[in-house]
Parts: sequence; C-alpha cells; structure tokens
Amino acid sequence: MFESLQERLGSILNGLTGRGALSEADVSAALREVRRALIEADVALDVVRSFVDKVRAKAVGAEVLKSIKPGQMVVKIVHDELVDMLGAEGVAIDLNAPAPVVVMMVGLQGSGKTTTTAKIARRLTDRQGKKVLMASLDTRRPAAQEQLRQLGEQTGVATLPVIAGQSPLQIAARAVQAAKLGGHDVVIIDTAGRTHIDEPLMVEMAEIKSASSPHEILLVADSLTGQDAVNLARNFDERVGITGLVLTRMDGDGRGGAALSMRAATGKPIKLIGTGEKMDALEEFHPRRIADRILG
Ligand code: GDP
Repeated sequence: MFESLQERLGSILNGLTGRGALSEADVSAALREVRRALIEADVALDVVRSFVDKVRAKAVGAEVLKSIKPGQMVVKIVHDELVDMLGAEGVAIDLNAPAPVVVMMVGLQGSGKTTTTAKIARRLTDRQGKKVLMASLDTRRPAAQEQLRQLGEQTGVATLPVIAGQSPLQIAARAVQAAKLGGHDVVIIDTAGRTHIDEPLMVEMAEIKSASSPHEILLVADSLTGQDAVNLARNFDERVGITGLVLTRMDGDGRGGAALSMRAATGKPIKLIGTGEKMDALEEFHPRRIADRILG
C-alpha cells in the first residue's frame, strides 16, 4: 500500500506550524508529493502538470489556519481542486428530446460497452419507467450481438432482432425505425469497438452518428486506462463528439486517475461509473469519492 498523501505531506510540512503563510519553497516540496501521488494514480502526465500549476497558484501565500496543520491545509487545497476538475456529480443521461431518444455507446473493445449498455437500459426501465430498445451494431463479432440479446433477456429489456448480413449503418437505421414503430422512449445503440483507435473506427462512428442522430453519445472507458486515457478521450471527442463519459471497473484496484485525465481532456461530464459485472453494478459519479481515491 502507498502511504497516503495526507501522511506524506504531514511529514514534510507539519514543522511549519505557526509560521504564517505557505512559502514558495514549502509549496514546492509539497507539490512534489502531490505530483507523485497523481502519477501513482495513473493520471496522465500533462494533466498532472496543469493540475500542479493550479494548486501552486492557490497554495503559495495561503495563510495557514491556526486550527489545522499545514499538511492538512495543502491536502484540502489539492482535494478541492481535484473535485472542481472532476466536475459535477449526478449528471443524468439527458432524455430531453422527442422519442425515441437515441443514446449511442462508443469505446474500445473490452471497455465494458455492451455490459454498460444493458446496465443503462435496465436502469432507465426500472427507475424511470422508460420503454427501452437495445441494438448491437457489432457485426464483426457475431458473439457480441448474441451477448446483448442474452443481457436483454436477463434484464427484461427488448433487443433488436438480428438480421444476418446487415451493415452497422443499416442496423442503426432499423433500430431507430423499430423504436419509432414500437413506441419505445429510448433506443440504445451499442457500437463495435476495436482494440485501439484507428481511422476506420472513427469513420464508422461518424457515419453511425449521422444515420441515427443520437441525443447522447457516451464514451465507455476502462478506469484502469493509464497514460492513454487522454488520447482516447480526446480522439473520440474530436472525431465523434461525445456528450459524456462512463468509467467501468471502478470496483478494481485502480486509483481512478483516468477519470481526471478524461474529464480534463474533454470537459465532458462523467455520468456514471461501473462497479462490477452484475447488471445493477452501475452508480452515479461522486467526485469527492474519486478525489479521495486518487489522493490515496
Ligand atoms: P465490450 O467489448 O466493450 O462490449 O465489453 P463487455 O461489455 O463485453 O465487457 C468486457 C468484460 O468486462 C466482461 O466480462 C464484463 O462483465 C466486464 N465488465 C464490464 N464492466 C465492468 C465493471 O464495471 N466492473 C467489472 N469488474 N467488470 C466489468
């Protein structure tokens, strides 16, 4: 286990009690530890850099309150800044559009896209009484369409029947049409992923977007993504235009640095987090909790 940032900063700064304002030198020593903690939490390096600069600007010259130790004070400044950068909590999936509202799920293969599609469908059905249709556009892996069908069966959510030989674009158009005819409130489109970002993937996503006019485009990403998180989020956002993020595997051992990296790279809200393989393992995003975890 890593020593917590609070403990590390305590040993560096607590000798300062009673000295008044934090000096540039005190803050620099503290920020070396902050930088190390963020890197251990897998926050991308350029995000670490800009974060540390922001904290420096706030901490240098800050009066050390009598009631708390200087180390705790720096931790508080760091924590507040992290919460601020991570963004608002409880940003719901926006269904404020004429039915059927199209929600498009994008992300790399293995990120948890199909599982998250079914979890969201179940949540909208159970909690908001919505009539939801799910459709898998992953024609490269026949098992993917079958996986979504099984999850639909398990959760009691309708899936678009598979017609062999259809292209992802044709399936997208058919899903929207079927949702209109079937009186569905929401249609969730589970797009195909790849193991890494490439041009054909981005072109396909852009085409599916034009064919289905999604109201929400959610990037599903593994919270254990390391330095690649910024690149991944920025690419999907620039090429497809995402409206929010869903981070999966938050039940794992990771410290959640990818949340900060992806939020910083796109400015888009983290709407939900995945916390397990089961269909109810989907939770609202709480920036304070993630900030605590990043700081260790
Ligand atoms: P896709 O290729 O992006 O569609 O990924 P899948 O939805 O098939 O998920 C890949 C694996 O990750 C499956 O075994 C899922 O059960 C698992 N998975 C998805 N989300 C989570 C999560 O939040 N926590 C954990 N522990 N496993 C997850």
